Amino acid sequence: MKARAVVFDLWNTIAVWPEDLWAETRPKVAEQLGLTIEEFETRWYGDLAQMREIGPSGDVLALFDLSPAAVERVTSLRRAVTRKGLVPVPGAVETITTLRERGLKIGLISVCSEDVVSLWEETDFHGLFDEEVFSAAVGLRKPDPRIYRLALDLLGVEPAGAVFVGDGANDELAGAERVGMRAIGVDSPSGELGDWDGAIVGELSELLELV
Ligand SMILES: [Mg+2]
Repeated sequence: MKARAVVFDLWNTIAVWPEDLWAETRPKVAEQLGLTIEEFETRWYGDLAQMREIGPSGDVLALFDLSPAAVERVTSLRRAVTRKGLVPVPGAVETITTLRERGLKIGLISVCSEDVVSLWEETDFHGLFDEEVFSAAVGLRKPDPRIYRLALDLLGVEPAGAVFVGDGANDELAGAERVGMRAIGVDSPSGELGDWDGAIVGELSELLELV
């Protein structure tokens, strides 16, 4: 079936998560939460990972005995990192704009925390997409089939008419195929493609030949 929509992943696909700045910031966040850096890493990437990606950040911070000022500091530390990353990679805006000019609907499905949602309107991504689905806002994460179906319903497109593009984190490429979408991997420094053996692009502009 001819593609009618292209759905993009966000991090390490059309924007680069600022890993270095986040590494510098983590000890400051840990300190505010009253944790050692080791405790912080265990919890952030362990029991808190799902919670911070499928719900309000306030729910996560409420687990800690923080003053309102400390909540504010943690929130602003994290927002600064996220804001730095929310910049289109070279070729992203041009590729998406060209796909739209061809009549394709453009969607986004991101596993992200609430700060992405709240910062979105002030970024250069705002207005590029017909529909955006953020995990923290909808309470679902990739590769849950429901998050793909939600995006497709919003776009008004059947799975067979949609292409998913991502770096491969969260098993998102196989997840897209399981709901009947075509998936294209993006070769990114994140190294998340794993054993993906489907189509791969090195530059987003290559999508213009593949979609
Ligand atoms: Mg990604």
